[in-house]
Amino acid sequence: MVTNENRRILLINPSIRSFFNKNFNILPPLVFGIISALTPKYWKITMWDENIDNDSEFGFDYDIVAITTNTVNILRSYELADIYRAKNIKVIFGGWHSASMLDEALSHADSVIIGSVESEWLKFLNDFENNEIKKVYKEISQKYEFIKADNSIFKSKYFSTAVETSRGCKNHCKFCGIHINGHQAYKRKPISLVITEITEADSDFIFFLDNNFFGGDYDYLEQLFNEMISLKLKKKWITAVSVNFFNSQKLIKLAAKSGACLLFVGFETDSFKTLKYLGKENVKSIGSKNNNIFEDYRKIVKSCHKNGILISGNIIIGFENDTEEIILNRMFFFKNLKLDSCKSVILTPLPGTAFFNEIINQKKLSELIFPNDWNKFLYIKNVIKHKNLSSEFLEKNVIYCNQTYFKQSLMKTVRSFFILKSIKSSAFFYYYLKNFANYESNLLNKLFYFFLGNNFFK
Ligand code: SF4
Repeated sequence: MVTNENRRILLINPSIRSFFNKNFNILPPLVFGIISALTPKYWKITMWDENIDNDSEFGFDYDIVAITTNTVNILRSYELADIYRAKNIKVIFGGWHSASMLDEALSHADSVIIGSVESEWLKFLNDFENNEIKKVYKEISQKYEFIKADNSIFKSKYFSTAVETSRGCKNHCKFCGIHINGHQAYKRKPISLVITEITEADSDFIFFLDNNFFGGDYDYLEQLFNEMISLKLKKKWITAVSVNFFNSQKLIKLAAKSGACLLFVGFETDSFKTLKYLGKENVKSIGSKNNNIFEDYRKIVKSCHKNGILISGNIIIGFENDTEEIILNRMFFFKNLKLDSCKSVILTPLPGTAFFNEIINQKKLSELIFPNDWNKFLYIKNVIKHKNLSSEFLEKNVIYCNQTYFKQSLMKTVRSFFILKSIKSSAFFYYYLKNFANYESNLLNKLFYFFLGNNFFK
């Protein structure tokens, strides 16, 4: 019998080892900090991050197992859910994949949360305590309030602290999973709450885990950066921004002063027309005045470097009108931009997105069998029928380009350290490379160990 004294929840972040490095420990699964803060104290919470924890420690002594899902980890999520349900433990899913493939998810879980965990988690717990859980907990109003995450649950196992300043996005890029059913609302977290989380962070490194940290909110970011500067928080941070962030020199300077060391930008393509097709907000500020996208992107890179910030780009291959020649030209274009790191991926229609529906409606999705074929949605496999391109070309070239044109080298990494001019910022960048780009150097390991000690080898 479940009593108040022995109620136990296991939170699982399933493995994404097929996607990133085997020890993906740069940032914690932020949603678990929120669940921990929401849950009444008579529940004992255990967190299992399969990407870093030993698999055999966790056992089956739980009342509830909550699993955070995305397309990259979904097969492992289903596998784990089936194991726990076979032991009569209730399983609940959250995250984008389960929200967009509801029927499929419900064949492996007892319940699914669609929308923000802040508004639905306590309803689920309450129903569990009354033995009347529902299959779907769907946020209706999207009037959730941000709360302060309980980061103590992460036990300082991660290199950085994940902090949200917003959720959702005002833009509507058609391939992006942000606007799937139940996840549409855009909200900005109160600055006071963000500052508290940064101040209390047990790491010197902050990963702002927003979908679009910029969000067009000039005033908000100006105030946030100014507070970080005046409080002398001295944290180093990285995040993702859309290209229109770089329209404001004032913001770039304040970002640098407040500790920015690396910005991720989804450049996606060198074609103005394709940006427009994708619904990228970029088109309003890029390539429209002088019709020279390279010049505009190059200015962004230079402006980052001038201010001591690194820039990492994401590019996509496999658009409808792409040919082998267009793709090779795109690779040269981005190689010549002199980004500090760059990754190319194959255009992949994530379930629940406008792009996925378009591909289905146009009967362009390859013959796939779900759920097993979700393991092809890793951005290095082609799942779309193209008129000009073979899957073989795309799959061969995405790997080839990442391993040649965009390969990280010691020289390139050291050049980036000269731009940053800070050991701490350089350590953050190098840790990012270890996690996201599978790049490691014995020499740099020794160097950072010398400066930062054991903390560097979490
Ligand atoms: S700007 Fe980024 S987060 Fe926003 S819709 Fe586009 S891809 Fe998604």
